[in-house]
Amino acid sequence: MKKSVAIIGGGIVGATVAYYLNKLDDNHQLNVTMYDDGEGQATKAAAGIISPWLSKRRNKKWYNLARDGATLLSNIAIETNMDNDIYNQCGTIITRASHEKLNELYKKALKRTSETKTIGEAYKLNANEVKNKIPLLTSSLPGVLVTGGARIDGGKFAKHLKHLAQLNNLNIVNKNVSINDEGKIQLDKEIIEYDYIIVATGAWMKKTLSNLPLDVDVRAQKGQLIELSITNTNSGFDMPVLMPEGEKDFIPFNDGKLIVGATHENDKGFDLQPTNEVIDDLLASANRLVDGLNQENLIKIKVGTRAYTSDFAPFFGSIPQYPNILVGGGLGSSGLTTGPLIGKLLAHSIINKNGIDLDQYRKPIENYITLK
Ligand SMILES: Cc1cc2nc3c(=O)[nH]c(=O)nc-3n(C[C@H](O)[C@H](O)[C@H](O)COP(=O)(O)OP(=O)(O)OC[C@H]3O[C@@H](n4cnc5c(N)ncnc54)[C@H](O)[C@@H]3O)c2cc1C
Repeated sequence: MKKSVAIIGGGIVGATVAYYLNKLDDNHQLNVTMYDDGEGQATKAAAGIISPWLSKRRNKKWYNLARDGATLLSNIAIETNMDNDIYNQCGTIITRASHEKLNELYKKALKRTSETKTIGEAYKLNANEVKNKIPLLTSSLPGVLVTGGARIDGGKFAKHLKHLAQLNNLNIVNKNVSINDEGKIQLDKEIIEYDYIIVATGAWMKKTLSNLPLDVDVRAQKGQLIELSITNTNSGFDMPVLMPEGEKDFIPFNDGKLIVGATHENDKGFDLQPTNEVIDDLLASANRLVDGLNQENLIKIKVGTRAYTSDFAPFFGSIPQYPNILVGGGLGSSGLTTGPLIGKLLAHSIINKNGIDLDQYRKPIENYITLK
């Protein structure tokens, strides 16, 4: 008898769950349906920086998840023949004004390179060397380059994985659904029962579970970024992503596109309206690195909604009171890095091929989901 699985949410978590539920389904035992309304999706709006190794965060479980997530992303890109415009290991540079801080960062980078292969090699660069790596910069600080850092296009990444799963066992319904008080899916007036439900609804997780007597520790955060168009920027090589100290992240592309952002707006919830003062701030930040940018360079503003927990750590697994409902959420600002591994681990839990020590990656789910 085939098992039925519903995935609610088609961002990076839902898409990776779908990809692995297809890949691991050797005996064609699964029927998988994804419900996604796409509204405010963080995955599509994200900056796309994958470079967790030099983060200041001290949470060891988060680091394990992000480190192994970065490796998994690179493996998925290879095994699914992903194009360069979806996943590109172009390197990332982090700058520091003080020599002491730069040396500390470099020391940490060297330590990380001896521990994990995906980070690639680490180099300490003076300001001119940073400018040589990103020729459109007119001003820079010195920095540390790690060659394994990457940029991804979250929307295209998720679309690519969903497309592969659709070739086999995935059906996608682009609609909003809820879970009723019996733990079943409600689509308009229809109630549908599944063997498993995976809730990957990002910032909307609290709402998705609101008919069950559960408290969910997730809050919404607005993020905006701008896309600029600059002529004559073709460097002839893939420019690294820049994480400049005191400025917004800076993601240059060879076709003249430049992404700058993103904001972290805690008091704006699910608001998806771009705001002029934020756009001006982002443009000003870009201008301190590249002379002469203005409103005429602006081609797109992206707005998305991140999901945060009180301790900023993601959570995943089955809900103890509802063992057939699994969740993956609270990914915050590094969800493109951690999301694919969370998706893979959720799929493994269903297919029963786990054998992976999940506690190296997560705190107990009861820290985030409690009975009311
Ligand atoms: C501006 C910005 C910049 C970012 N930059 C980076 C970065 O550089 N690097 C990085 O690693 N991370 C970054 N992130 C974080 C990352 O994008 C997110 O953590 C990650 O994409 C979350 O993925 P998700 O699948 O959990 O949720 P989402 O991508 O939000 O997907 C959830 C989906 O569920 C759907 N949904 C919700 N409720 C329902 C329902 N009831 N029925 C049907 N569908 C529903 C939503 O519409 C959405 O499509 C950034 C985020 C933002 C907003």
